[in-house]
Amino acid sequence: MSTPSGNAIDITLATDPAGPVEGGEAVSAAKAGGNPAAGSKKNIFDLDRVSLEDFFEQVLGEKRYRAHQVMKWIHHRYVTDFDQMTDLGKALRAKLHEHAEVRAPMVIHEKPSADGTIKWLIGMDPKNAIEAVFIPEKNRGTLCVSSQVGCALNCQFCSTATQGFNRNLTTAEVIGQVWIAARQLGNLPHQQRRLTNVVMMGMGEPLMNFDNVVRAMSIMRDDLGYGLANKRVTLSTAGMVPMIDKLGQVSDVSLAVSLHAANDELRTELVPLNKKYPIEELMAACQRYVTRKPRSSITFEYTLMKGVNDQPVHARQLARLMRQFDNATQMKDAAKVNLIPFNPFPGTRFERSAEEDIRAFQKLLQEARVLTTVRRTRGDDIDAACGQLKGQVMDRTRRQAEFRKTLEAAGAGDAAA
Ligand code: SF4
Repeated sequence: MSTPSGNAIDITLATDPAGPVEGGEAVSAAKAGGNPAAGSKKNIFDLDRVSLEDFFEQVLGEKRYRAHQVMKWIHHRYVTDFDQMTDLGKALRAKLHEHAEVRAPMVIHEKPSADGTIKWLIGMDPKNAIEAVFIPEKNRGTLCVSSQVGCALNCQFCSTATQGFNRNLTTAEVIGQVWIAARQLGNLPHQQRRLTNVVMMGMGEPLMNFDNVVRAMSIMRDDLGYGLANKRVTLSTAGMVPMIDKLGQVSDVSLAVSLHAANDELRTELVPLNKKYPIEELMAACQRYVTRKPRSSITFEYTLMKGVNDQPVHARQLARLMRQFDNATQMKDAAKVNLIPFNPFPGTRFERSAEEDIRAFQKLLQEARVLTTVRRTRGDDIDAACGQLKGQVMDRTRRQAEFRKTLEAAGAGDAAA
């Protein structure tokens, strides 16, 4: 599902935008692994361990374990040039050059915040870019990643919804966001881990891009990839019920559900997908997910909007739903609630709840013994907070203006006109 960090922009790159910015923040395409234009060679970023082993065996005629060496070079050492993979023989490197490439998405712009948050504007093709955001905290560093360019689900409080749906991201484009951040942070998966968590909460509904997202999450969790524990990779969904079940069959990642209302009438208004998969079906799918294997909990995200879903009656409905979930799963604290104060964006009809209403809402949940946190924004100076369902991001017009400014600073001012 949704949110915050990853927002797409429809752009037109008439020239390569990755040219160096004098004293600025743009990062070159070469550094980012090359131009993202589609090529005929297999992009190794698209392959998880098993599919890369298959590629080595079936296409290159090599031993499967050779694939492991290449994964380590790419995801542990951030090397994308086969010639620099010094433990590969000359003949293998020649075969790799002939049949494969290592092509990450292109970093257009990198913007650090005073509080340590970093936002990357990443070009996915000549017309579209998304953002990824890294949020450092005391004991962890979380990267918020996008799964689609745009979104088709039309949640009413989401600025991305106003842009419609452009396309799914490829596996390479999803894992490429992680690679870009990890490389920039100097992350060393088994030594100096700065990137400890990934949340699929950027733009798009990840379960509508199932295969690519699952493959990318497999690389995130693989020791030959980023070595993240299942509980440190979180997929956030608006409630694609059949796909929650499908996910439960192939993956053990943490699940977050964007709930936003605990009654069907209001939820259908806010999240139209609820009409197809109402709350009872959604909660049943969540129950199946959390009990299928020993998973500790599901996080229910609830964006608080003034006068819409932030009143005591709503808190009591939510508390009841969460208690029912705990009882149904027979697990203590199987449901956690994350309250997200809405951050208005231009053109929205919703407003942020008053601070006292947020506190009162949280208190009612806590009195009902529901584990509840309130998400506070980070990276405000770069519009980068992660977790606010698209309301947290700038609208497309502002982003285009900002992007244009970046290009002008790079001396390519006409490019985005
Ligand atoms: S909040 Fe809804 S419309 Fe927005 S990206 Fe998430 S699923 Fe799509």
